[in-house]
Amino acid sequence: MTRTADIVVIGAGIAGVSAAYHLTVRHDAGSVVLVDPRPPLTLTSDKSTECYRNWWPDQPMVDLMNRSIDIFEELATETDFGLNRNGYLFVTAREETRAAMARQVEDVERLGARAELLDAHDLRSRYGFVTEDAVGGVRVERAGWFRAQDLGQWMLERARERGTSLLTASVVGIEGDTVTLSDGSTISAHAIVIAAGPLSAEVAAMTGLELPLFSELHLKVAFKDHLGVIPREAPMTIWSDTQTIDWTDEERAGLEAMGRDELLGEMPIYCHFRPEGGTESPYFVALWEYHGRVLEPSWPLPDDPLYPEVVMRGLITMVPELEKYRDRLPESFVDGGYYTKTRENRPLVGPTSVHGVHLLAGLSGFGVMVSAGAADLLSRHLVGAEVPDYSNGFLLGRYDDPDYVANLETAVSGQL
Ligand SMILES: Cc1cc2nc3c(=O)[nH]c(=O)nc-3n(C[C@H](O)[C@H](O)[C@H](O)COP(=O)(O)OP(=O)(O)OC[C@H]3O[C@@H](n4cnc5c(N)ncnc54)[C@H](O)[C@@H]3O)c2cc1C
Repeated sequence: MTRTADIVVIGAGIAGVSAAYHLTVRHDAGSVVLVDPRPPLTLTSDKSTECYRNWWPDQPMVDLMNRSIDIFEELATETDFGLNRNGYLFVTAREETRAAMARQVEDVERLGARAELLDAHDLRSRYGFVTEDAVGGVRVERAGWFRAQDLGQWMLERARERGTSLLTASVVGIEGDTVTLSDGSTISAHAIVIAAGPLSAEVAAMTGLELPLFSELHLKVAFKDHLGVIPREAPMTIWSDTQTIDWTDEERAGLEAMGRDELLGEMPIYCHFRPEGGTESPYFVALWEYHGRVLEPSWPLPDDPLYPEVVMRGLITMVPELEKYRDRLPESFVDGGYYTKTRENRPLVGPTSVHGVHLLAGLSGFGVMVSAGAADLLSRHLVGAEVPDYSNGFLLGRYDDPDYVANLETAVSGQL
């Protein structure tokens, strides 16, 4: 069977669904076919912490995130997806980190993001759950979280009303303007959008393109806070210091016997959490990326049976009252996925050197928050509308510039 369409979007994660919505509903770009072997939004996009912020150490990223958040705020007037402004709170117990935070606030404000520098007294009076060891912090203002699944389903419904069809199949080949599916059928289209998440490089290779992407494994744990330790109005709260967990001698011996020596020494920064669900919900979600594992994406994910325990121990440093769970962990559930990213942690959005082939990939750990801005940018390229100044910063073609490539080694990622 041969179909035709104006645009084929490969992948129905938040990237592909958002692309289908922006192309059909907001940019009237023609007919769209969305192809995915899995149910929409189920590979990586339902594993996200669903947080957003415009706090990034890079001008194009701040601009793109501000655009994305503008669009979310607009959409929130059309549908309720729980968009809040609860903020991100970075906390430190070190004077030198607080001083660095002050410099960061100045730098990032120059780029167009707002944040408030807090001292120990501010923290104590406003965030009483944070340890008294904390000497300061930064509260990012244009930040919070939302129900990305609800937004994704809503966008998919609107796109389908505008004629988007969803095909349950894998793309197994791309030749010129023709895409071959796993059921043997083909689709001919004017444009092909690769939005295949962790498999984007594999799909792009079918067109001869090589994408500079790699994937890190990131886990997340949901805890049932049955003792009600975490205030429901808490922001996304992030411990910005390294730390060493105070394992008992017995625990240390056990970890050594398991070959888990990496948990015994200095552990990385950014152990963090946020409340999950409404005011009545007992849950919070927490993340701490101490594995640093770059992997070829595969499923099911490699697991770490110690993850809930290690994350809880890291959180106790920041929220001492969680000590109540030290000897008896609350009910927990672990999931996760891959941050598929470029070296400098900017996404790939827009046309490529292969005629008709466009990218919406490399969304790393910010794919939910960037989805609206990136799909809007992609759509502008596709319909030939005016693109913003920052658009060049997201093209694959940026790597053709030797100066850009030379600066990659010193690029800061801004990733939690
Ligand atoms: C633990 C964790 C926490 C996170 N927290 C946040 C956060 O707080 N805020 C935030 O903004 N982001 C966060 N992220 C990142 C965010 O979840 C991802 O960036 C985003 O979900 C990526 O969306 P995607 O559509 O590109 O990929 P995916 O959701 O993986 O979708 C890709 C789709 O492409 C399909 N596909 C692949 N190959 C083919 C093929 N050959 N043919 C057809 N279809 C194909 C797949 O089946 C899949 O459905 C987090 C991620 C993780 C893992």
